[in-house]
Amino acid sequence: MSLPEELAAEFSDHLYEGKVNLRDLLPAELQRFFAILGQSSYRTGQLLRWLYLRRVSSFEEMTDLSHRLRSRLEEVAVLPRLRWANSSNSVQDTTKFLFALPDGNCIESVKMRYLEHLGPGRVAVCLSSQVGCAMNCAFCASGKNGLLRSLKAWEMVEQAVQIQRLLDPLQERVANIVFMGIGEPLTNLRQVLRAICLLNCGDGFAVGMRHIAISTCGVVPAIYQLAQKQLPLKLALSLHATTDEVRSRLMPVNRRWNIKELLEACKVYQQATHRRLTFEYIMLDHINDTLADADRLVELLRGLRCLVNLIPWNAIDHPTFQRSSNNRVRAFQERVNSGGLRCTLRCEKGADIDAACGQLRLRTMRGDA
Ligand code: SAH
Repeated sequence: MSLPEELAAEFSDHLYEGKVNLRDLLPAELQRFFAILGQSSYRTGQLLRWLYLRRVSSFEEMTDLSHRLRSRLEEVAVLPRLRWANSSNSVQDTTKFLFALPDGNCIESVKMRYLEHLGPGRVAVCLSSQVGCAMNCAFCASGKNGLLRSLKAWEMVEQAVQIQRLLDPLQERVANIVFMGIGEPLTNLRQVLRAICLLNCGDGFAVGMRHIAISTCGVVPAIYQLAQKQLPLKLALSLHATTDEVRSRLMPVNRRWNIKELLEACKVYQQATHRRLTFEYIMLDHINDTLADADRLVELLRGLRCLVNLIPWNAIDHPTFQRSSNNRVRAFQERVNSGGLRCTLRCEKGADIDAACGQLRLRTMRGDA
């Protein structure tokens, strides 16, 4: 049976196998969907709760909808899923999941239980926003095969929903979401914001905006766009160097928007959102980890309310890069802290499970996972 014209026209961006993909609709769009079906707006909340609180897979399970409505939904709508393809467990309470998308591509998501401040039974998840990545940072596995495509909102939300389903029997809850998996979220901003809307929605997944973070390599115009929205989202900036010369070598994006332009955008974001910023800094031996770098870092970030998070590099195939020794990391951290800038060391979890972005996907694509 073909889809009624009004639905096909209204939801042309959200069709899946010729039917409306209800997982990809925002609450207002769901309301419109039910209005077209001649249903009351009350259905929207019911559906959201089935999808994101009870996390069912089929209309059949939605027992507070009449049989008639359920069979109508079967005719015009679908609830696609991601397929769990692989996972690797770290001894350190981190699990990395590989999900297969409907088109056969794979993405990764990570579940982390180690953020003590979240409290017992609360976990953080790290979501992918794209299949592959176009940014081509020299130290990162995600960009090694370029960008295949961006994810749609529902494909991002589904990563969190699937992980939550696995946590349900353990009485644990996804309480924190970071867009720090494969991809550059700010080059897929529209869909990332749609995903955040669904993840944040009270009748839906209900994670507060303040517990959702976006990490970017520094796509400056998108930082301004995001600032204009004035959402209390956390923003993490992958800085990784203190001079344009080194940063451009590590991160091609710096040739387009340099450190100064990036930090100006950060200032505007902070003024708009009043949120503390996080600067991520991967420690690479003798490349960006000298005490002179530490001093420059303090100078660069002066005036911003922020935290520097040092990241031990998860080695990928690279001819020259090496991770900094513990001594160098400690000396760097002390120097930054004594300059009055708060600097933490990311506790290393999951080095044994290919924890860095794109590593499990890359290995699985090569057939050795
Ligand atoms: N594109 C976004 C988000 C994905 S990467 C960004 O650049 O921020 C998430 C974080 O992991 C970034 O700080 C990134 O630089 C870092 N990262 C990538 N590869 C890594 C590796 N091999 N070891 C440690 N950190 C890595």
